Amino acid sequence: MDPIYGDKLQAHNPAIRILTLLPGPRDAVIKCLLARVAFDKAARYDALSYAWGDPSDKTSIAVNGFQLFVPSNLSELLRMLRKPDNTTELWADAICINQKGVEEKNYQVSIMGEIFRRCDTAYIWLGFPCSSRQVDRNTDNAESPFALISHFAYDKHLYELPCFEVDATTKKVTFHHDAAFTSMWDSFVDIFQKPWWSRFWCIQESLLPSSAIVMLGPWTTPWSTIKLCEKDSLRHIWGCCGISASLMPPEYTWFVDAMVANSQVDPRHVPNHCYDACRNMDQLVRTFRYKDCQNPRDKIYGISGLLNHSRYPRLLLDYSLPIANVYTNAMEAMLCDGSGDLRCLTGTGFNSQAYNLPSWVRNFQARPHIAAINSETHRDKVYALYNASSSAKSSPILKDEIHLVLNGVWIDNVRKVGSTVVDRN
Ligand SMILES: [Zn+2]
Repeated sequence: MDPIYGDKLQAHNPAIRILTLLPGPRDAVIKCLLARVAFDKAARYDALSYAWGDPSDKTSIAVNGFQLFVPSNLSELLRMLRKPDNTTELWADAICINQKGVEEKNYQVSIMGEIFRRCDTAYIWLGFPCSSRQVDRNTDNAESPFALISHFAYDKHLYELPCFEVDATTKKVTFHHDAAFTSMWDSFVDIFQKPWWSRFWCIQESLLPSSAIVMLGPWTTPWSTIKLCEKDSLRHIWGCCGISASLMPPEYTWFVDAMVANSQVDPRHVPNHCYDACRNMDQLVRTFRYKDCQNPRDKIYGISGLLNHSRYPRLLLDYSLPIANVYTNAMEAMLCDGSGDLRCLTGTGFNSQAYNLPSWVRNFQARPHIAAINSETHRDKVYALYNASSSAKSSPILKDEIHLVLNGVWIDNVRKVGSTVVDRN
């Protein structure tokens, strides 16, 4: 039996481990207790979402009296959440799952969506702000790094920012460089460049909890404020504040581009009544494959909490499988999802040399640029407008686990083949 973890967690007896963070002064070693609890509605805990960071960057903490090395980023988050005089109940994947037990990991990752859905609050840890003025919020000149995000979330106009002046009579707006705005802007860029955003797992970890709080050092803002900022900033920039936006020097247009790109591929912007559509595995995996994860299998497993599993009954999580099998199984699940269409075979990423993949299996590990994904997403949207098969449903068959057999209709011979369009990317 493992001294820290005890008996392994298994699917036939639904359970998770909850971490009790013991109180202590800020600089003391992190000490916590780990206990197995039945995974039912009575389990109360806050879940932690963070970037694992460099695998060699680990810090030692004490768990049940034993030393455990965890990502330094996680130990910093625990330090921020530790109370001076009270315990805190938490769930953190790097600690609550025995990372060395494949069978346990398979089971726990398969219920990870549910773990985040049932938590009281999810804490999203971005790390520390880049500006030293913001590291300690108790100092006199500390300002919130979330100021620009809040500005948009409060539905304010662009020209209400300190870098704009509005003439009282003519109402003409002018831009001027302003130290307060530059500082707001630098924090805004810093926030959206934190590694957490590029992490594949952050998708379900931010979408599923009913309440989530974003933390940057000692500063916090509700996740809902970030969502409002993305939605409202675009509404202003494309509408009432178009002229103000055009007055900003080019170095400030980056955030417009970034937000437009994100808003087009992000299911956070999908209204609830369309939510079933975004549980489509092909769309989810393809949309987010520009994000990063350490284990290539997680490009499939990392969104399993968002899937409608009745649609993909044969998709099982198994970290012991070779990557080629994981990707082939995923493609098979998409082809046999009951839709009868073959749209998962469109787009880029096929004929890859990686992992000895069959030609019809997409290399999900490849990370195309977000712009390429955007155009692919648009193409996917218009797919439904065409009906060359006259609504005939495909019936794909997999032979010897690598050969895909499909029925087709012979229409005509190809008489001439033009020159190839080379993708410079
Ligand atoms: Zn406006």
